[in-house]
Amino acid sequence: MQLYTKILIGLIAGAVVGAVANLSGITGFQNFLGALEPLGTAFINLITMIVVPLVVASLLVGTASLGDLSKLGRIGGKTLLFYMCTTAVAVSIGLAISNFVEPGSGVSEITRDELAARYGGEAQASMDMAAQAPSWVETLLAVIPRNPVQAAANMDLLPLIFFTICFGAALTVIQKDRRDAVLNFFHGVNDVSMVLINWIMELAPYAVFVLIAAVIGNFGFDLLQSLLIYTVAVAAGLLLHAFGTYGLILRFLVRVNPARFYKKIAAVPLFAFSTSSSNATLPLTIETAEEELGASNEVASFVLPLGATMNMDGTALYQAVAVMFIAQIYGIPLDLADQLIIVMTATLASIGAAGVPSAGIITLIIVLNSVGLQGQVQAGIALILGVDRILDMLRTSVNVTGDLTCCSFIAKTEGETLVGIEGDETKPQAQAA
Ligand code: ASP
Repeated sequence: MQLYTKILIGLIAGAVVGAVANLSGITGFQNFLGALEPLGTAFINLITMIVVPLVVASLLVGTASLGDLSKLGRIGGKTLLFYMCTTAVAVSIGLAISNFVEPGSGVSEITRDELAARYGGEAQASMDMAAQAPSWVETLLAVIPRNPVQAAANMDLLPLIFFTICFGAALTVIQKDRRDAVLNFFHGVNDVSMVLINWIMELAPYAVFVLIAAVIGNFGFDLLQSLLIYTVAVAAGLLLHAFGTYGLILRFLVRVNPARFYKKIAAVPLFAFSTSSSNATLPLTIETAEEELGASNEVASFVLPLGATMNMDGTALYQAVAVMFIAQIYGIPLDLADQLIIVMTATLASIGAAGVPSAGIITLIIVLNSVGLQGQVQAGIALILGVDRILDMLRTSVNVTGDLTCCSFIAKTEGETLVGIEGDETKPQAQAA
């Protein structure tokens, strides 16, 4: 059985059991599912522990084998441009849907005030976290780590990527026997990481079951009713972007069959859906790009870790709808100029968001502030917090799908053949280059 089928079974079974516990109203059952959640967290920790060794080893091997550093610059430039453009498209889709559907206009004042009172405390906690966030200059400076070991220990991927690329570049110019010794070692680390991922993924269906059962078991379905139009608007935008925008890119720029692509990568968005974390999904994303799509290590090891930290189309789209929703609820009109500001700030804010659960709601505060909604931040966040977990699951799935779409695009423009999704499906596939 394919990995995605197993994960899907775990997911559906978890959703059914969670829904039964929730709707039956048996608190003991709900508490039991809640008590199982640490098992899911243990699994997330298990897969996350591979991120640092895998990113360092695979990126180092990838950079060193590029040979020509100008190629790295070219790949880097194309990747950043791709990420920025697709994110801007995602935000525009979110804005278009919000203008069309006006999700905020259907929420009564009573519901609004009830939600604001119920989630006000949690919203304040998000605001406190946002207040501690570094400035743009500090964020840029932090890309250069003073201590790479510390960056690794904190799982700060951007500085780690920066250091690894410098290290890999320098490796190409040292004496051959020494270079080979270092490269051999990291080749080994890379292979070990891949084996570990395969082992850990054996547990994925069970972990997914536990994670989903706990979320659905304790979900406030009453909230879904009052925030239904908002939730559906975000979900519709995400689906449109995942299948429309990426589908067109895959068809016309990458020139592959989008259906084959989605089938090959299905386990990745399902896994992201269950964990709500691009970072935790990263090992599987890298493995899928190399082994299922056939992208080279050089491209995958560079494009994907960067994507997990910087490319969050789903998050940006969600932020656009959320800002419009909050503005509509409070009757504050946002004109075209405001919406252009949303395109810019949501694109940048999603770059700043970490690939961990709920990161998007914290950077949402930046977008709210940018269009003058400072006064509505706490109440606005409180309004949407109740359904945030479900939307986080959806947007994270889109985030990782975007990373893999970019990886395919870059691989293709670098002259690679994506053996997993190109050519005759009936013939046995060659190994990835
Ligand atoms: N959970 C998302 C991710 O990891 C970030 C967010 O939107 O909160 O990609």
